[in-house]
Amino acid sequence: MVRVQNVAGLALAALVFAPAVLAAAPADPISPAELSATVRTLASDAFEGRAPGTAGEARTVEYLVARFKALGLEPGGEAGAWTQAVPLVRTQVGPAPRFTVDIGGAATPLTQLREIYASTLRPVERVSIDKAPLVFVGYGVAAPERRWDDFKGVDLKGKIAVFLVNDPDFEALPGEPVAGRFGGKAMTYYGRWTYKYEEAARRGALGALIVHETPGAGYGWSTVVAPQGEAYDIKRAADGPQPVLLQGWLQRDAAVDLFRRAGLDFEALKRRARQADFRPVALAGERFSADFTVAHAAIESRNVLARLPGTRRPDETIVYAAHWDAYGLGAPDAHGDRIRRGANDDGLGVAGVLEIARAFKAAPAPERSIVFAVWTAEERGLLGSETYAARPLYPFSRTVANLTMDILETAGPARDVVLVGAGQDSLEDDLKAAAGRQGRTVTPDPHPEKGLFYRADHFSMAKRGVPTLLLMAIGGGPDLVAGGRAAGDKWVDDYTANCYHKACDAWSADWDLRGAAEDVDLLYDIGRRLANSADWPRWSEGSEFERIRAASAAERRP
Ligand SMILES: [Zn+2]
Repeated sequence: MVRVQNVAGLALAALVFAPAVLAAAPADPISPAELSATVRTLASDAFEGRAPGTAGEARTVEYLVARFKALGLEPGGEAGAWTQAVPLVRTQVGPAPRFTVDIGGAATPLTQLREIYASTLRPVERVSIDKAPLVFVGYGVAAPERRWDDFKGVDLKGKIAVFLVNDPDFEALPGEPVAGRFGGKAMTYYGRWTYKYEEAARRGALGALIVHETPGAGYGWSTVVAPQGEAYDIKRAADGPQPVLLQGWLQRDAAVDLFRRAGLDFEALKRRARQADFRPVALAGERFSADFTVAHAAIESRNVLARLPGTRRPDETIVYAAHWDAYGLGAPDAHGDRIRRGANDDGLGVAGVLEIARAFKAAPAPERSIVFAVWTAEERGLLGSETYAARPLYPFSRTVANLTMDILETAGPARDVVLVGAGQDSLEDDLKAAAGRQGRTVTPDPHPEKGLFYRADHFSMAKRGVPTLLLMAIGGGPDLVAGGRAAGDKWVDDYTANCYHKACDAWSADWDLRGAAEDVDLLYDIGRRLANSADWPRWSEGSEFERIRAASAAERRP
């Protein structure tokens, strides 16, 4: 308590002297007390857990616009507004869905949530699939830059594609030709379930089912079934590309059994799927049927965007981002709290964006433009950022970098910052330099196999080629000044086990945000230097996103 009062006292002093102090010392302008105050508001009862399309959204958007206005920024949204419309579709699988696999004339039922987890992103009244063939496509990867194609031109129209989770070298043994070709244990984009559903849709498949294995997925079956048949998507043009009709997961033992009954050995097929000459295999004699009703609704949500125009290169943009949405109201927790407040995830990231905006306004105007983007519907599948990425308000070819914050540590000063997505692009070098100026170091995420780099909003831009840097504190414990790595790991474990996406993720007077403020300051430092330079950050050679960035190289002036 005493510590917090001290911090608040400091903040008052900083407020009084802010302009002079910040102009003189731009290297350290981020205030722990300001971060705390913003989160306290965003996570309060009045915001109802900030679910898209609710009264909590209206309150949140109003608050963010007021803050950006008060900072003297320009509206950065559509047509001179502070927002960008994000039309969403919510679908819910109806009661008692039926799934069966016909094997030699006998129908074997698969139980939703137990052997199978299926949903749809299509706003249809009913999903009816009658005896569709099942085709095992291995890891389902088409990666020309790695000279890898699991599909070999197989026709998936009218069929259900069955995928392995993760990518072809995740379980490779040392010496196997594929070892290291997809980043080793580190997950690549090709390992993500989103990629597999998208690839199945691109190839005209009726459905996509991924065999769930906990090590490869990075989470257990309970996480897979947690949405209980609910799914969200961006609203798609009727004449544009559509998602697969049915998407989901097969529980491992159920999948092994289906393979066995088709005369196939699952483990042997997995080994074969690690070979570049793998070809898709039909589950001969097996036919998949599904029948369920779908409830669907349209949701109108909004991204909030503010802009600080650059003085010399205004058409070149650096984007700072976080997501405003959280999980809204849920079942009461042990203390009777129904509000899943998303205080840290990602109220603290939003607070970071606001602090960086404040710091930029207090310093001389930057040469390049800065956009402060606060996305909606991250928790529904990165949908606010995806909507922006599908209809960018500032061209990606001249977006210099995307700097995103999604969950920061609240356990105090740290000697290092843990980087999720190490090795992806040159912004990592900028991060190392910035950390060095603070007397700190950068530690690569110790669990790249979890694929956290592909699970936050920066990724919607990354996959369109914009170099990105993500600060996400749950990648691994920081080396805390008080207690070292063990204390940092304990903080991460406590947060992910007890608070992540739960009512426990609430604001606390006991948070020590000095470490978070230093982390936010890293992104401010990196962005400010980029904003006053002509540098264009670059993807690392062999990154999944290097080719798409290179395609627009002519639009970037040196
Ligand atoms: Zn988040």
